[in-house]
Parts: sequence; C-alpha cells; structure tokens
Amino acid sequence: MTRGYSDETQQGYTMDTVMEEAQRCLLCLDAPCSAACPAGTDPARFIRSVRFRNLKGAAETIRENNAIGGVCARVCPTERYCQQACSRCGIDRPIDIGGIQRFVTDFEETVGMEILKTGAANGKKIGIIGSGPSGLQAAAALLGLGYEVHIYEKSEKAGGYLRYGIPEYRLPERVVDREIEKIEKMGAEFHCGTDIGTDCTMDELKETYDAVLVAAGASVGKWLPMFEGNDRTETAVEFLARVKAKGGKEEVPDHVVVIGGGDVAMDAATTLKRLGAKRVTDVAYEELCEFLASEKELEGARQAGVTIIDGYIPEQVDGNTVTFKHRHMDARLCLGADKIILAVGQKPDVKSLGLEMEGNEAKADGYRTADPEVFVTGDLAEGDKTVVWAVRKGKEAAQAIHESLQERGSRL
Ligand SMILES: Cc1cc2nc3c(=O)[nH]c(=O)nc-3n(C[C@H](O)[C@H](O)[C@H](O)COP(=O)(O)OP(=O)(O)OC[C@H]3O[C@@H](n4cnc5c(N)ncnc54)[C@H](O)[C@@H]3O)c2cc1C
Ligand code: SF4
Repeated sequence: MTRGYSDETQQGYTMDTVMEEAQRCLLCLDAPCSAACPAGTDPARFIRSVRFRNLKGAAETIRENNAIGGVCARVCPTERYCQQACSRCGIDRPIDIGGIQRFVTDFEETVGMEILKTGAANGKKIGIIGSGPSGLQAAAALLGLGYEVHIYEKSEKAGGYLRYGIPEYRLPERVVDREIEKIEKMGAEFHCGTDIGTDCTMDELKETYDAVLVAAGASVGKWLPMFEGNDRTETAVEFLARVKAKGGKEEVPDHVVVIGGGDVAMDAATTLKRLGAKRVTDVAYEELCEFLASEKELEGARQAGVTIIDGYIPEQVDGNTVTFKHRHMDARLCLGADKIILAVGQKPDVKSLGLEMEGNEAKADGYRTADPEVFVTGDLAEGDKTVVWAVRKGKEAAQAIHESLQERGSRL
C-alpha cells in the first residue's frame, strides 16, 4: 500500500490491546526500563498504573517527568534505551513502552487533563533561546520552580526539529501543538520570529533576564565540499523543513539520490517516496551492519520503496551525475539524479551568540558556560543528540540555573 505524506506509520492501541500489552509486563523491582530512560520518564511505574487501570496516575507519572511525553512516545528510539533494557527481551520481545506511553498521553488529551503546574512566583526571569524539545522542557521545569519564562524562536512557529524536521507521518503537528499549548498555559511567553543575534543581541537579553539559556540546537545541515555550488543539491534538513512548512504540498522530481545513512537520510528518502518521487536511491558510507539509522526507520524507508546502497563514498559530482567509490573494493557507481540531497549531519549556527565552541558543542561545565549568566542545553550540550536526551538536558539545565541563582542570591 502506498502511504501519503501525512499517514501515520504506527497505529495506536485501543483500550483492550493496551491492557493486553501492559499485562505482559513483569512488574520488575528496580526496573531496568526505568533506569535506562534518559529523561527519567519511569516506564515501570506508568505501566503498573495502566495494568491497574489507573490511567490518570499513568499520565501524571509521564507528564511530571517529561513535559513532552506525547512527542517522546512517538519519536524516542526506545529500542536503544528502555526497550533494550526490558527484562522481557530474555523471554520473547520487549514491552512496547513507546506504544503504551502514546496511548496514555492520547488519553490525557482526550479527557483534557491538566497535569503540569506552575510554581509560586519567585520574581526572577529567564530568557531561553530556541523552542526545540530542550528549550520547551527547560521552560516547563523553570515555570514549575516559579520563574517567569520567555522563549525566543527565530522560526515562525515553536518546536525546533519537532516542527521543522521530523516528518508528519512520524510526528503529527497536532501532537507538537498540544505539547506547546500546555507549556504556554503554564505561563511561558513565546516570541516567535525573533532571531537572537539579529533582532536583539545577547547583551540585551542578559540585561533583561536573570539568566539566559541557549537551546539553539544544531539547525544547519552539513555540506560535502564537492557539492558546494551544485544547483541540484540541498541538505536534508532544508528539504524536510520546507516540506513541513508547506504541509506536504511540495512537488518532487522523479529521480533523487540521498546521501547518508542515518535517521535524517531515511526521513528525507521516505518523505520523497511518499510525495511521489519515482526512484529514490539512498547511498551510505556505512555498510548495513553498521548503519546509523534505527531499524524502524530503515524498514520504513524500504517499505516505502527506497533503494539502499551501502558502503559507498561520493567521489565526484558533475551536473546531475554523482560518482561513488566503494569503501573497500575497487568498484565505482554512477548515479544520475534530478535532485541530490545531503544528509551527512547537522551543526550549530551560533556565531552571533558569542558562545565558545568545542566542535559542535558549546564549551561548558555541565550546563554552565564561562559567563555566569549564560547556560546551554540540548544538542549544543554534551550527550546524545536525541529528543529524549534534549528533555533530560532541559531538566538538568533548569536545575543548574536554579542552583546558580540561589548561590548568587545567597552571596548578595
Ligand atoms: C530530520 C530529523 C529527524 C529526527 N528524528 C529524531 C527522532 O526520531 N528521534 C529523536 O530522538 N531525535 C530525532 N532527531 C534529533 C532531534 O530532533 C534533536 O536531537 C532535538 O530536536 C534537539 O533539540 P534542541 O532543543 O537542542 O534543538 P532543536 O530542536 O534544533 O531546536 C532549536 C531551536 O532553536 C532555534 N534557534 C536557533 N538559533 C536561534 C537564534 N539565534 N534565535 C532564536 N532561535 C534560534 C531554532 O530555530 C530551533 O527552533 C531528528 C533530527 C532531525 C533533523
Ligand atoms: S523492564 Fe520490561 S518487564 Fe520489567 S517493568 Fe520494565 S517494561 Fe515491565
């Protein structure tokens, strides 16, 4: 079956099927799934609540630990975290933790539960640059501690890669909207369409707020030098952002070559097929046994009809023809394409913010930079570059700001 751009890949559980899945849980003591969740979402606890039909308790456990639990339920690579640690792996297959979390957060929405609470105002204000998952989670945690929070976002709408990266079929925009609404309801003020460094300077922000948290992510796609100036080439993140901004109304050419072997490459290639491209070939440096993309994403791309060629490096580009060379064998491959998409990584674009950088991360001690008023989080900070890690870092960065302001207060 050919799927359209917006058709969700995964179908959700019903009340009966979610209970069946929760009944398979072994209710482990010191549950390995909970220890393996980077964001501390505590699957063992919420699955136990589901088993006892306490969906309200399950929703509270998720939301109190993870302000964007509905998003994580859909996009978290659970096979690398909680599900990999699940005790049931040794018996048959892991519990579908992401699927159960999705059912609970959808239920929370259907019955209109309001779980996130704002703390008593403490008179202090925090400015956050970037409204991706880390900025959103940090905002929720800071609002819970009583801070006034303002989020500056250069794009037209909030959400970072949740809105302008991950395709609609994996993460519908309505899910992103409702997570943001919850944080807005807590009192966060969003200033979208405001580029810090252009519309307002970092120094102005520092004068206005007690602390500034930079959650600007890694928003620029990397280029391979040989493709610079080739007018058929663009990066996967540019392409995916445009498709999302246009709600999938994008004309795509017949033949496309995607270069890269990670999840972003799979997203671009699958999106192209769903938008009607006739032939999409993904060429990756990695061999299949070392592929960076998750099994789910690789399988999704294959099912959509993407041809995957592994172990090849681009050697030369001449107009619409790319020549690849095999990593180990003396073999070459020439592919003609109407369009070439590079999915070879992302990097930050934070020159205007005056951060000291070490590679793609800001130089910091934990989340504290050398400037006592400036903190960093998300993809700009050390640790995995995934949504669930962005949540973890957002929580920890909020705590670091809180502790720093308390230390500063006690010195005055
Ligand atoms: C196509 C794609 C698919 C992905 N799929 C998954 C997945 O399935 N699962 C997963 O776990 N992870 C996935 N990731 C990775 C994940 O999205 C990132 O790790 C995560 O979004 C990082 O969060 P963040 O808050 O640090 O930054 P981002 O989400 O990048 O958000 C940063 C925000 O800051 C804004 N900003 C930047 N500079 C400024 C400025 N000067 N002024 C104002 N605003 C600014 C940007 O516009 C952006 O909105 C994917 C990434 C991509 C690109
Ligand atoms: S590790 Fe698996 S079986 Fe054990 S509590 Fe967690 S989900 Fe249930």
